[in-house]
Amino acid sequence: MKNTFSDIELCVKCGLCLPHCPTYGKTLDENESPRGRLALIQGWAAGKLEASPRLLEHVDNCLLCRACEAACPAQVPYGRLVDDFRSATAGQHAKPLAARIKSAAVGFSLQNPRFQRLSAPARGVLAKTGVLKSTGLADLEAGLPEVFEHGEWRGFHPASGKQTACVELFLGCTAELADAETVSAAIRLLNRLGVGVSVPAGQGCCGAMALHSGDRQGAERMQESNRAAFGAESPDAILTLASGCGAVLKEYPQAFGTRVKDICQFLSEQVWPEEIRFEPLPGRVLVHTPCSLKNLLKAGRHVPELLRRIPQLEVKTLPDTTPCCGAAGTYMLEHAQMANALREDVLESIAAIAPNYLLTSNVGCAIHLRAGLKLRGMSSVRTLHPIVLLERQTRS
Ligand code: SF4
Ligand code: SF4
Repeated sequence: MKNTFSDIELCVKCGLCLPHCPTYGKTLDENESPRGRLALIQGWAAGKLEASPRLLEHVDNCLLCRACEAACPAQVPYGRLVDDFRSATAGQHAKPLAARIKSAAVGFSLQNPRFQRLSAPARGVLAKTGVLKSTGLADLEAGLPEVFEHGEWRGFHPASGKQTACVELFLGCTAELADAETVSAAIRLLNRLGVGVSVPAGQGCCGAMALHSGDRQGAERMQESNRAAFGAESPDAILTLASGCGAVLKEYPQAFGTRVKDICQFLSEQVWPEEIRFEPLPGRVLVHTPCSLKNLLKAGRHVPELLRRIPQLEVKTLPDTTPCCGAAGTYMLEHAQMANALREDVLESIAAIAPNYLLTSNVGCAIHLRAGLKLRGMSSVRTLHPIVLLERQTRS
């Protein structure tokens, strides 16, 4: 067996991961399960199976939600093995050409904030004329915030009063396009709590999309430039707003990863100044916990903990067993059928709870779920990052 894949032998084929796998749950096909995919990669690595289009497709259909890894008693490093397989077979694409063009276009846009700024006015026109629908990007457009905000966040944002901590903020490549409200709210809230915020220039994409699509070299280049932008020392922590980025940064080699923290975890560990009071908010929120926050950062509990400090707010959570919503980076574009089927299940739960707000800590999930709510005529449920609501309620 090729060395890098020898960890597959840790898999004892017990099948305990199967009930946790969203693609297995939808298909009941062993080839669409973690155990099945590991067996296919094992057969290929041993030279017994060809990297046929069907084999590649089964591995490609994986969301990399890593629910299987969280459930595995043998600690099989499933995510790393799939990334390695995709990298080793890069160029032997299983995806249809249209899906590859779509995610390449989105990838290009995300890597180029200037392109996002220049193309923002065209978004509305393309949506109205049906061009986005014909390219299959209508769902993405429907999930983006209506107003494009060009934020100038780079630099240092001092604490409002006495500084008690200092952090660096990781923006990710979607901040301007899809999450400007969250970034601005995060900086204001941290400053209000006595935390100085540095937003290093030169930072860029975490590399998730490149890594999960088999472009390991591209991902390593992005790692390098982020490590250079953030320097060797960080004041107290590197905070992430999108748990998908946080999960990838946490796995950067060397000391970088140990400094990374999800913002809600950081906030729940801080001693809040006594003068900070929460304004009451009569209503109901539903907390959606992204797979990256639950299975990789293991920091899901902090969001409801923080929200319960808001008086009169009813805080509901989805059951811990709720599977991936189907967003999974560019998965929602490349595997729209499966992504939408998984989203339907989450939307059913949302409809049953009927919240005023749906709060999620990952921008990709927010886009996917917001679009789904819109399609179902449920736009009155506002989809936000929890930080936005926390900041609003501490304003006075
Ligand atoms: S990946 Fe883990 S849980 Fe799944 S079959 Fe293998 S050993 Fe069992
Ligand atoms: S990462 Fe998620 S989709 Fe992929 S095999 Fe594991 S549980 Fe299934």
